[in-house]
Amino acid sequence: MPQRKGAFRISACPACGSAGIRAVQEDWSGSYEGKRYVVRNLRHFHCPQCGEKVYDPSAMRQIQAASPAFAKLQRARKTA
Ligand SMILES: [Zn+2]
Repeated sequence: MPQRKGAFRISACPACGSAGIRAVQEDWSGSYEGKRYVVRNLRHFHCPQCGEKVYDPSAMRQIQAASPAFAKLQRARKTA
């Protein structure tokens, strides 16, 4: 079986098992130490049944790139 890189698909919600989970692309916001940050047009999966959100590896990278928490870690690593 050929492995397709970047083809991350979900057919059922890992939280409730609903087949209604689907890919969405929308602004995503998180918060760190009371500060909100936004990832524009983040592609991720959303379950309308239970509200679960699932992120593929590239979505995780985008979140990490925008997160002040990860920015702090990267700075710490560079100076160490
Ligand atoms: Zn669900």
